[in-house]
Amino acid sequence: MARARDPIADLRRIAFLLERANEATYRVRAFRSAAKALAGLPTAELTERAGNGTLTELAGVGDVTARCVAESLAGEEPVYLRRLVATEGSDLDAEATALRAALRGDCHTHSDWSDGGSPIEEMALAAVELGHEYLVLTDHSPRLTVARGLTAERLRRQLDHVAQVNAALPEGFRILTGIEVDILADGSLDQDDDLLARLDVVVGSVHSGLKDERSKMTRRMLKAVANPHLDILGHVTGRMVSSRPAGVTGPGDRGHRARTRAESDFDADAVFAACAEHDTAVEINSRPERQDPPKRLIRRALEAGCRFAINTDAHAPGQLDWQRFGCERAALCGVPADRVINTWSSEQLVAWTHNRA
Ligand SMILES: [Zn+2]
Ligand SMILES: [Zn+2]
Repeated sequence: MARARDPIADLRRIAFLLERANEATYRVRAFRSAAKALAGLPTAELTERAGNGTLTELAGVGDVTARCVAESLAGEEPVYLRRLVATEGSDLDAEATALRAALRGDCHTHSDWSDGGSPIEEMALAAVELGHEYLVLTDHSPRLTVARGLTAERLRRQLDHVAQVNAALPEGFRILTGIEVDILADGSLDQDDDLLARLDVVVGSVHSGLKDERSKMTRRMLKAVANPHLDILGHVTGRMVSSRPAGVTGPGDRGHRARTRAESDFDADAVFAACAEHDTAVEINSRPERQDPPKRLIRRALEAGCRFAINTDAHAPGQLDWQRFGCERAALCGVPADRVINTWSSEQLVAWTHNRA
């Protein structure tokens, strides 16, 4: 058996690295309090509790910190720490660039059929110029009337139109059909099942009742994630952050602040566990005002074993180039390319979505 490491030192090191990466205070505190709670215990008791799984019975010790301690005692560098260390000293810029280069398409985009500003043809041509092999068109669903969501009938017409546009596009590129379907209050999806089954990719997002109480929002998201039609969970927390760096003020600042919105409250570990179980990908939304999910949740989704989709949610052709922002955030969290579904070819992607439902 490998020689035990010092679990307290490992927990402290994790806290330090999280602080340096400017992570949320409560996330850091989890590691600091666990380190404090365990520092007073005799090594024998620590080992016994790690062995019989009772570390979490101690105040201040949760599942994640208990796992770290067990790994340390077994002589392994905790996975959590390894990920943080792997990303701290490396050239993040190079990693983000490599991740961006590995992306072959974009799974969340809008056209002027809903609230986008440009025709499908223009979005497609911009995607071709960016070097994409595919673009998934995901206009909104009926209940999102403010965004001119597509009724079943308009969506059917759009599918015919996309088939025509595809016939005229360069070889090696195609528009995949899709939708950004509203996750309704009861967790059901806002479009007919037969249409959802017909589409290549289904992104599902919460756009209403974002302030719903935790248990209600969790139930709603869990039901949607378990729906076999849902392939990607869009902008997970619904938050809106200012694109202006902290501390910078100036003209227009008030406008920025007015557009911010807190994350919705839900049991992220339960939702990500369900995403992993049902093989539903978690979106890393690249829009500067969304940056959703926040990094601490990307890390938790990664730990839960989820796949990801790095999407732009572009509403105009130039915004298709925003994938870079999502790649930077993914690289900061150590997301490997093989966990990102839009590194796949369009054939692989469609085979995956169609296998699911
Ligand atoms: Zn949306
Ligand atoms: Zn969208």
